[in-house]
Amino acid sequence: MKIIISIAFLLLSHNLLASEAIGFYSNGTLVNAASIDDYSGHYEKLFRSRKRLYATDYLFNFLFDFSEEFIADHPDTEKFQLGDISALNGGKISRHASHQNGLDIDIVYLRVNKRGQDVDYPEWKEYFVKNGVVTKNFDLTKNWELFKLIVSKGDVGRIFVDKAVKKAFCNEYSSSRNRLDLETLRRLRPAKYHLTHFHLRLKCHSSFKRCQKQADPANNSGCNELLIESLE
Ligand SMILES: [Zn+2]
Repeated sequence: MKIIISIAFLLLSHNLLASEAIGFYSNGTLVNAASIDDYSGHYEKLFRSRKRLYATDYLFNFLFDFSEEFIADHPDTEKFQLGDISALNGGKISRHASHQNGLDIDIVYLRVNKRGQDVDYPEWKEYFVKNGVVTKNFDLTKNWELFKLIVSKGDVGRIFVDKAVKKAFCNEYSSSRNRLDLETLRRLRPAKYHLTHFHLRLKCHSSFKRCQKQADPANNSGCNELLIESLE
C-alpha cells in the first residue's frame, strides 16, 4: 500500500507542471515561471541582483532531484552554485544567446577543494580551464559522476562545457563500451565561454505543446571532431 501511495505521489508530482516553456532556447518565453526561491536544496544562487531566478518548475524539479540524489551518494560535496537561469517571463537576457524558455541553467563545476565562491561576488570567480587544459581543482571524477547521473535521467538534451572539459572526458572514456558513458559523452557539447561553469539544457517536456524541440546530437561520442557548438 505504502509503495502504491508513493508511486502515485511521484507520478503526480512529476506530471503536474504549472509552468510552460514556449518557443526555442534562443527565441522563446516562459509562462507561469517558478522561482528558485520556491525551492531549497543543496545549492545556492549566485548573481541574485541580475534577477535571473526563474525557470519552469520542470527544470527546478529536475535540479532538486538530481542534486539530492548526488549528495546522498557524495555527501562531501560543496553546494551547487547556480549562475543565470531565466527572467520572470523568459525572453532575451544580456550575456546569453539562450536561457529564454526556462529550460537552461548555468552551474559551477565541482571542485577538488570544495570551496565555493562567495555568493555576493558579482562574476564567475574561478576558471577551471587554463591554457587549454582543465585545472587541478577541476574534480574530474566527481564532475563525470555528476554528468552521468544527469544524463541517466533521459531529460537532458545537452550539457555545454568548455572544449578542454569534453576532451578530458574523451581521453578517459571514449573507448568505453558502457552505454551510459557514451551517452554522457554524446550530450557533452563543447562551447565557448564555459571555462567557469557548465550549462544544463533540458529537452522540451512532453506536456509543453508550444516548446520547439532541438534535434539530438549525432548518436556518437563526438570525441573525434570536438566541434564547437553554438548555444543558439
Ligand atoms: Zn548558460
